[in-house]
Amino acid sequence: MDPREEIRSRLDFKAVVERYVPLKPAGKGRWKGLCPFHNEKTPSFYVDEQKGMFYCFGCKAGGDAFKFVQMIEGVDFREALEKLAQETGVELPERGPAHRPSKDLIEVNRLALSYFRSHLEGPPLAYLQRRGLDDATIERYALGFAPKRWDGLVNFLKRHDVPLKLGLEAGVLAEKDGRVYDRLRARVVFPIRDPMGRVVAFTGRALADEDAPKYLNTPESDVFKKNRLLYGYPEARKSIR
Ligand SMILES: [Zn+2]
Repeated sequence: MDPREEIRSRLDFKAVVERYVPLKPAGKGRWKGLCPFHNEKTPSFYVDEQKGMFYCFGCKAGGDAFKFVQMIEGVDFREALEKLAQETGVELPERGPAHRPSKDLIEVNRLALSYFRSHLEGPPLAYLQRRGLDDATIERYALGFAPKRWDGLVNFLKRHDVPLKLGLEAGVLAEKDGRVYDRLRARVVFPIRDPMGRVVAFTGRALADEDAPKYLNTPESDVFKKNRLLYGYPEARKSIR
């Protein structure tokens, strides 16, 4: 049986929900409570015990047990799956290389972001301020700067014991003729986030007009597909276009 199905069949979904939401009977096999996903005073959050589904008539949140755990714990599908598998004693097949967790790349991006942010000072900072970006905006969008050197981020990642291979996979490093180097250089850097706020890629805007191209993105990676929605980013970019 598919582990998902097996978990579903073994799981007491109502009991899972009740750890977070007190439930009252609402008819045959149905329960209701105050929605944990929006603010309300009268219950519009319903649980269907047989189907193992929840739905909120107020905020339209809904789905199965995996969705519920994802939403309430703020984890991704895989983590929700692992949690519920453990709880129901269902064994999950080992993940092959194709399912390597993208957590690593997120961590690399997080480190890269801290590197870029720590270098936003002096002329690059003045440049942003001249363009009307105040400290609050710079902070909100976590803008940074990639110094004009080939090995700044390379060395930074090395110091943090990050294999350069991961830096390449995340797209923050590039490689040519066996030499690994910083992809973004002498650029103001914007993190690109996924809907959960995790940094999945970067855009770098050249400081000097002679540095082409004007915008350089880190490439698509396991965690960054260009057709995904990018939150907060277009607004920030408008300011320095
Ligand atoms: Zn709701």
